[in-house]
Amino acid sequence: MFQLNENQARIQETARALANDVFKSRAAGIDASEEYPWDNVKVLTQAGFMGMAIPEEHGGLGLSYFDVILVVEEIARVCGVTARIVVEGNMGAIGAITRFGTKKQIERVVPLVLAGDKPAICITEPGSGSAATQMTTTAQKSGDKYILNGTKHWITGGGVSKSHLIFAQVVENDEHLGIGGFIAVRGEDEGLKIGRREPAMGLRGIPETEVIFDNLEIAEDMALIRPENLKRGFAGLMNAYNAQRVGAGTVALGVGCGAYHEALGYVKIREQFSRPIAEFQGLQWMLADMNVSIESARMMLWRAAQSAQTSNTGFPDPLMAAQAKLIASETAVKVTNDALQLHGAAGYSRNLPLERMVRDARMFTIGGGTAQMLRNLIAGKILDMKVPQTRDGYSTSKNS
Ligand code: FAD
Repeated sequence: MFQLNENQARIQETARALANDVFKSRAAGIDASEEYPWDNVKVLTQAGFMGMAIPEEHGGLGLSYFDVILVVEEIARVCGVTARIVVEGNMGAIGAITRFGTKKQIERVVPLVLAGDKPAICITEPGSGSAATQMTTTAQKSGDKYILNGTKHWITGGGVSKSHLIFAQVVENDEHLGIGGFIAVRGEDEGLKIGRREPAMGLRGIPETEVIFDNLEIAEDMALIRPENLKRGFAGLMNAYNAQRVGAGTVALGVGCGAYHEALGYVKIREQFSRPIAEFQGLQWMLADMNVSIESARMMLWRAAQSAQTSNTGFPDPLMAAQAKLIASETAVKVTNDALQLHGAAGYSRNLPLERMVRDARMFTIGGGTAQMLRNLIAGKILDMKVPQTRDGYSTSKNS
């Protein structure tokens, strides 16, 4: 049984109050305008929600990922966009930088995040989505610099984020050393360009764009390299992604939960056949199923978030994070659709938040590892074997 301590109950309550008093009324406008919610960012920053998981010695509040997701869920119930900003202001790129970065790197990025910057994480390319390690962006070592060339796409926050964690194939003296992470700041590092914006289905208040590296010069000391060396660098850096996965799963949960509560209220006031529709058993069972799947997803997310506190990486356990993101994202898709269904035509109208919640929830079985790729990961863990995805993978792997 998960028990919130006094501090956790307090931050959850603060987040709930901000969600209901401030963010809720702004959410439809953000969706319609497709503009980044700078006003909400200001509120998040003032509340101390940006960088709350940054260790105290680096200027943050030193709170846990579990504390962060308590805040994320409350905000996501009313505004998925704003909740995603909290995730990326605490998990993902910033987690990797504070865990693996040098003093200089941390000092460059942390003040930006504490001032409200949502770092962008640049992995996906037009030709390499699920097959992320097949990325073609290169970081060519040249003297005391790396020269980056390539194009990423679907980068959340393209054009609004200042700090960027960019993944690229590192090449030095014609030798391929593996995938490394590089820190760049938009506006400071020349050669980082923002390309086309995707006309996204949901979560429209955050731009999803191409990010283009055109001879982007990164000083050697902005290469984020794991102590084990570059060859194992990507796997190490990707550990940080397990936190982001738990965060993204929690946004999905929150969006689903928001839709569920809308439905719970509506079925009691909407009457058909001279009785509240809540009296129809078929609808009661829908609500019961929605309730159970939300509670299950929350327990798995909480378990995954808490696993970070005892893991030797400082990040959530990869299996628990994948399980939690999978159940939360698929739950959100189903629950938001069912909640819309329970509203009949009213749910299909843009006057209510249901259709927005359906669109917002839809992304979470895709972004940050698709539902299929998460099943691959889970299968590999439970079978305790490598599950290579390339055609020649099994013949070249060491399974047997
Ligand atoms: P593909 O890899 O082309 O997959 C197509 C389909 O094939 C999917 O259903 C997939 O599950 C399936 N598939 C592929 N390979 C396998 C396999 N081996 N086994 C079974 N099924 C398989 N990326 C970033 O780097 N930074 C970001 O900030 C970011 N933000 C995003 C935000 C949004 C809203 C979205 C939608 C995406 C974002 N992404 C981001 C990209 C995201 O990580 C990729 O979309 C995702 O990894 C899938 O890649 P893809 O879209 O190229 O699909």
